[in-house]
Amino acid sequence: MRALRLHGTRDLRLHDEPAPEPGDDEVVVRVTAVGLCGSDRHWFLEGGIGDAVLDRPLVLGHEFVGTIESGARAGERVALDPAVPCGRCSVCLAGEPHLCPGMRFAGHGSADGALRTCLAWPERLAHTLPDGLSDVEGSLLEPLGVALHALDLGNAQPGSTAGVFGCGPLGLLLVQALRTAGVETIVASDPLPHRAAAAESLGATLAPREVDMAFEAAGDDAGLADAMAAVRPGGRVVLVGIPEGDRTSFTASIARRKGLTLLLSRRMKPTDLPRAIRLAEAGEVELGGLVSGRYALFEFREAFDELVERRGLKVVVEPQRTGDGR
Ligand SMILES: [Zn+2]
Ligand SMILES: [Zn+2]
Repeated sequence: MRALRLHGTRDLRLHDEPAPEPGDDEVVVRVTAVGLCGSDRHWFLEGGIGDAVLDRPLVLGHEFVGTIESGARAGERVALDPAVPCGRCSVCLAGEPHLCPGMRFAGHGSADGALRTCLAWPERLAHTLPDGLSDVEGSLLEPLGVALHALDLGNAQPGSTAGVFGCGPLGLLLVQALRTAGVETIVASDPLPHRAAAAESLGATLAPREVDMAFEAAGDDAGLADAMAAVRPGGRVVLVGIPEGDRTSFTASIARRKGLTLLLSRRMKPTDLPRAIRLAEAGEVELGGLVSGRYALFEFREAFDELVERRGLKVVVEPQRTGDGR
């Protein structure tokens, strides 16, 4: 099989490697589509993310779909949950498996991810992809699940108002998730005009106003400052983005005067991916329209260029594509 490994900062290399051997609870999956995430961008540019640093060449990619190749479900198209919590620790047993300290996560730390032609992954984490969704659309289900988890933290209620600060793919999925939750007014902002325009086309308004809850999805202090400025006194601010340099700061007096509740959102719960699949299957969210670039595995330089420069929206790599059949 072919695998794309990150050897160091901005240093990706394609390798030929032996096919993976599935463990007892695993199936072999032929990977068909992998979305690139802001977290992959951190790994690529900084050689790590926060306090997790590259200690060996790592295969990135955690937003992925594919076709099962082994076992009773062979031939089934599936979306995969990239998180493998231990299931036994007190955090897992308390119903917070997404916070498990012993978590294995695709494309993070010592666990290779999905930017390769095939991988072995726990069968229980493979969720059937409905016929109505393409593989490329399916690669947006994991970030949609992340958006749904953030939505829960914001406690979005029908009729409430919300702001989304940072309109990359995750922000745009948040705008849509808020709409499906019955949030009437969604204010959005992004310094990049094409991203702000995308949020507007999905029903958000760019006109500033006070909101009940604010989501920071930019991963920088400017986005957080805007979120804090917009939210009403007593409101919630949910931090979804990942800051550069592992630091977040804000003006304490604004946050204190408003008595804000800050929530830090971490990935998603195991139930959020099936939830995302149901929403997408019902046609309540637009996924394919968020994809701005599709690349074969050997086109990784172009794919990561588009990701780094934030030229488009979602970048998707299709590891089974060999020729130029774009
Ligand atoms: Zn991600
Ligand atoms: Zn655990």
